[in-house]
Amino acid sequence: MDECPRCGSSLERLSLGEVTTIACGRCGFADVPVDHESEGEDHESWRDAFERFYEQTNERTE
Ligand SMILES: [Zn+2]
Repeated sequence: MDECPRCGSSLERLSLGEVTTIACGRCGFADVPVDHESEGEDHESWRDAFERFYEQTNERTE
């Protein structure tokens, strides 16, 4: 079974529609395996956008 990476307690499995979330009721740790990928994608695009903005600002400054 899944164990909490923080405290080692057993994780609870919560199903919200199509998304399954595992959460620890002991320390409050929560992880969303299904949402993890989209979160990473969002982070990537956010970072990409930031880098673009930074480049533009750099170009304008010079
Ligand atoms: Zn925990």
